[in-house]
Amino acid sequence: NENLIEVVDLKKYFSVGKDRTLKAVDNVSFSIKKGETLGLVGESGCGKTTCGRTVLGIYQATAGHVYYNGMDVHAMNREEKLKFKKSAQMIFQDPYASLDPRMTIGDIIGEGMDVHIKLSHKERQGKIDNLLGKVGLTSEHSARFPHELSGGQRQRIGIARALAVEPEFIVCDEPISALDVSIQAQIVNLLIKLQRELGLTYLFISHDLSMVKHISDRVGVMYLGSIVELASNHDLYEKPLHPYTQALISAIPIPDPVIEDKRNRIKLEGEVPSPINTPEGCKFMKRCVHAKEICGKITPELKEIEKNHFVACHLF
Ligand code: SF4
Repeated sequence: NENLIEVVDLKKYFSVGKDRTLKAVDNVSFSIKKGETLGLVGESGCGKTTCGRTVLGIYQATAGHVYYNGMDVHAMNREEKLKFKKSAQMIFQDPYASLDPRMTIGDIIGEGMDVHIKLSHKERQGKIDNLLGKVGLTSEHSARFPHELSGGQRQRIGIARALAVEPEFIVCDEPISALDVSIQAQIVNLLIKLQRELGLTYLFISHDLSMVKHISDRVGVMYLGSIVELASNHDLYEKPLHPYTQALISAIPIPDPVIEDKRNRIKLEGEVPSPINTPEGCKFMKRCVHAKEICGKITPELKEIEKNHFVACHLF
């Protein structure tokens, strides 16, 4: 089995008030092969961040399973859990909030190493300097504090910190959305370079479809807690099948104004409905131009429509 991650019918519900339930992650299944990048896209509030955190065990799942190298993450003993915590890391959205302002860059990077890897003082500093080089900074940054660095440099520190414990799998949770547009591509290209060098496996979470296209091998589209389409990068962008994916892709800006004027944008009508107490049936129904009677009655399941192309829609 070459899958590093297998997620099966994962659910993460939160109670809201007395009798209401927010289904942040609702029956999500996917797998990620070793060395692969799975992109997870969707509008804000669709549950992609909660999904990433539940996969890492930061949130306890309400139901379902996450397997890491075939082992159930939520049923691991202490020793296995510690190993998993080392092997599976996270890069956060906000490099401003996720770095402790009172710690030096060297200590931020070294903190996780102190827990998981036993090193002498000299080896530790050597490793920190090496990691700084890997992410495009220098050993001089080690004695500095986060506020002395730019947003892009801070995100490089966030990446170095994740790499410090030699992980196999990294959840990149909107790693570029807090950064200047001019810096975003640099960070994504750095992640791609590191993946090649170190054989990393990524779950790349973002609302930016162009960036997801740039980095991912396969892409899952989330809507209100569920994956509505899952396919190879090529198939998803070249022949999207789900009406929601079609609308998202038609809204990606194209730099050429001539093409931009001519193409048919599918406008998404209405707001994203509330994820609290969602009714039976397709959650996209209120915004879907193809909705039929059955769509309001039966929730469509994610089914393989073409080889390795999965869609949850009654049109298929
Ligand atoms: Fe539209 Fe029905 Fe498909 Fe949902 S199941 S996306 S409402 S056609």
